[in-house]
Amino acid sequence: MATRQASAANDPSANAQRDSDGRLQHLITLEGLSRDELTALLDLAQFYVRAPGDLPARDQSLAGHTVANLFFEPSTRTRVSFELAAQRLGAEVVNLDMQSSSRVKGETVLDTIYTLQAMHADILIMRDAEPGLPAMIARHVAPHVCILNAGEAHLSHPTQGLLDALTIRQHRADFSQLTVLIAGDIAHSRVARSAWQALTTLGVKELRIAAPEDLMPPAGEFAGATRYGDIDAAMRGVDAVMALRIQRERMLHSQIPDEASYYRTFGITSERLNLAKPDAIVLHPGPMNRDVEIASDVADGRRSVIQRQVTNGVAVRMAVLATIVRNVQARRQLR
Ligand code: ASP
Repeated sequence: MATRQASAANDPSANAQRDSDGRLQHLITLEGLSRDELTALLDLAQFYVRAPGDLPARDQSLAGHTVANLFFEPSTRTRVSFELAAQRLGAEVVNLDMQSSSRVKGETVLDTIYTLQAMHADILIMRDAEPGLPAMIARHVAPHVCILNAGEAHLSHPTQGLLDALTIRQHRADFSQLTVLIAGDIAHSRVARSAWQALTTLGVKELRIAAPEDLMPPAGEFAGATRYGDIDAAMRGVDAVMALRIQRERMLHSQIPDEASYYRTFGITSERLNLAKPDAIVLHPGPMNRDVEIASDVADGRRSVIQRQVTNGVAVRMAVLATIVRNVQARRQLR
């Protein structure tokens, strides 16, 4: 079984996300969440999942709350799914256009946050390229305000890690029987880091990471994962494979691999998928670059669960929002 060496004790983000009673007030990283906490979030998310074609789940867990979406990096799935999740739980939602926000005029992020807090926005969802920003903000906001990390540099994307774990659990409930491969640009991927955190804590039998040498994370990261430089060897016998986009925006121009040769040597093609278990599933966090990290026919094929991941993303974000708000309410009642 994959073992963990990283621990919440030395991760400042893991410490910043809990209140003085140890409850999650913010969600900044999956580091330090226990297996029980992860399982409770996945169970609640599963409760919110509805079959395609059915009406979405709704309740009033967030009635009276105001959610603000602050995305300083591009997003389609995560931003829309947080917005839908909050609306379906009865919240008021505002989306800030960060291109025209006051940060462009030189306002600090903290001043933007204080402005929103003064307007009674009490759940702030943020994506930013700066490592450590969500934890720094979490330390400065009022005790009733929650920060949810929707993507932090190459470091953390906790709700993505949860939705990936949920999608894999829907395929096979027992993590201890599963071999999962994450393939592609691991070095620059917050998706890979959060998936590693979730899947190792949930007790996956084996977690493999496969990347060309330049895209492999430094030794010491991804403790417990088996590293592969050869994608064909890595694919053998896996239950689930997650393909990752090359994170061009986190590289110098000279570091960006040539797409055609990357596809030849690392792309998830149907030939390569035949090396996995016959019922293996294929995940991708999106946005996809078809015929670069994943063949188009694999992305649309019968083993692809990419659309299911998107559906699960809304349910996971509903579960996170409802849990965080319940924790804040519990603290208020104790006072
Ligand atoms: N959407 C994911 C992220 O924000 C994956 C990607 O962009 O490649 O990290």
